[in-house]
Amino acid sequence: LSFDEIIRLAKAACSLGVRKIRLTGGEPLLRRGVVDLVARLRQETPIQDLALTTNGLLLPRLADALKSAGLHRVNLSLDALSPEVFLAMSGGYGSVQQVIAAAHRCLELGLPLKLNAVVKRGVNEGEVVGLLEFTRKLGVPMRFIEYMDVGGSNDWRRDQVVSEQEILSQVRAHLGPTRSQPEDPFSVARHYQLERDDYEFGVIASITRPFCGGCVRARLSSDGKLFTCLFSNTGHDLRSLLRSGAPDEVLHDRFAGIWGKREDRYSELRAAQGDAQPKVEMSYIGG
Ligand code: SF4
Repeated sequence: LSFDEIIRLAKAACSLGVRKIRLTGGEPLLRRGVVDLVARLRQETPIQDLALTTNGLLLPRLADALKSAGLHRVNLSLDALSPEVFLAMSGGYGSVQQVIAAAHRCLELGLPLKLNAVVKRGVNEGEVVGLLEFTRKLGVPMRFIEYMDVGGSNDWRRDQVVSEQEILSQVRAHLGPTRSQPEDPFSVARHYQLERDDYEFGVIASITRPFCGGCVRARLSSDGKLFTCLFSNTGHDLRSLLRSGAPDEVLHDRFAGIWGKREDRYSELRAAQGDAQPKVEMSYIGG
């Protein structure tokens, strides 16, 4: 999609009540001109919350311009502090130092920041406590994410999932009791606080505690397909509609029609259906 096309779709979404957009990937900072896209989304749409999920490698170079363009906040992936484990989780891309440099740059700029870690048994479950201690000292919220069966390229197995309860047990064993925070029905994370100092962290337990009932996220791929679920195997082609010269009202109605017919609840049905259903890759539609 061109930026003009993205802006048109963002406006159509906003006309239906969308107030939050997250730029994700793949890696969104690889898109040439991404700072201009951020500026245009802020200037040309009524979006109230514009977020970015990134591996952070290009962030030290771009953070200043992104903040000036109006970006509200950043999520950075940091799956481990050990360099070897980090590379095992990232598929060989980047380094711990680069992510930490990106985090410090956001903090210097006052750009609100969260760190995310996917936890995979046999790879980085031993990093949970170290990561939490690190983010606690940094003063940045941490989100642990249960390892998911997104796409077909990660050879997901259920026994590789480190559950929310296992993550909490590790945290409590090393850092003391935690207390649950009030639930937000539209937040994908459950929030907890360490009793010792009120430090807040979250767990996204999409495998052991699915939250499809509160899922309000549509995902738009870079080639203009709208996915109503992270685990869909087909998207709705909006690019053809855009390029056919459809007026704004038609775009609006198409969006509304797709969303209105939505019945997705893959995570709730996963156990019954098995895990064999083909799915779109997360690098194609974001998390
Ligand atoms: S499985 Fe689909 S519907 Fe359920 S929470 Fe995930 S993206 Fe939303």
